[in-house]
Amino acid sequence: MQNIIAPLHGFSFKSFDSYLEDILNLEQTENYKFYGFGLGGIADTKKLQNDLWNVPDTFNQKLKSLWIVSQLTKNTAAKISNRNLHILGAGNVQLIPLITYFGATSSDCHSAWRRANDGEAKMLVPLVNSKNQLIDNKNSWEYLKISTIKNLNCDCPICQEYSTKDLWKMFSSGDNENLYYSKILIFIHALYQYDYVISYCEANKDYMNAFSNSPSLELNLLYRTVLENIK
Ligand SMILES: [Zn+2]
Repeated sequence: MQNIIAPLHGFSFKSFDSYLEDILNLEQTENYKFYGFGLGGIADTKKLQNDLWNVPDTFNQKLKSLWIVSQLTKNTAAKISNRNLHILGAGNVQLIPLITYFGATSSDCHSAWRRANDGEAKMLVPLVNSKNQLIDNKNSWEYLKISTIKNLNCDCPICQEYSTKDLWKMFSSGDNENLYYSKILIFIHALYQYDYVISYCEANKDYMNAFSNSPSLELNLLYRTVLENIK
C-alpha cells in the first residue's frame, strides 16, 4: 500500500468537514483508500478569521491556536476510523499532548529550528525531563533568548555537556564554526524536549490531567480552557 495522505483544507470547522466528506466519497467512487489524512492551513492560526471559526471573544492568540487545532483534530479523527492523521506544520510542543489526545498520529513543526536561527538564538524551556517527570521551570515551553537564561533545569544530553553559558559563549564568539555548532546544539536540545513530551504521553495514560495540573500555572490555565471549550 502506498503511504499517501490526503491533505484537508478549509476556512471553518464546517468546510473542513465537507472537504473530508468529498474525499471519502471520492475514495468510494474510485475504489481507493488513502493511507491517512493531513490537516493543512492551520500552522498559523493568526490568519484564520475568528468569526468564521467561532473563536470565543476571551481567547488570546495562543488559546485560539491550541483550541482550533485540537477541535479540528477531534472532529476529523471521529470521521476517519483509526486511519493516520497528520497535523501539517502545527505540531508545536504545547500542542503535542492535545493533538495526541484528540487522535492525531503524527505532526511536524519548524519552530525549534527557526527559534535556534532567530537573530539571537532562543532555547526551549523544558517542562518534562528525561526521567518522565514534570519540572518546575519558569516560562515552561517558551523559547527564551540564550543570553537571558540562567538555568534551564534540563537534563538532556546537550545540557549535560554544555551550560547555557557555554552555548552563549560559542554563539557570540564571532567564529562561524562555533556559531553554527551552537545553533545545532540549541536545536537538538529542543528536539529532546519534544521526545520527552511524547515519551511522557506514551508512559502516562492520564497525561492530559497531568499537563493540566503541571508546575506551570500558565499552562494549566491554557489546557483547562481548551478542554472546557472542546465540543
Ligand atoms: Zn537540554
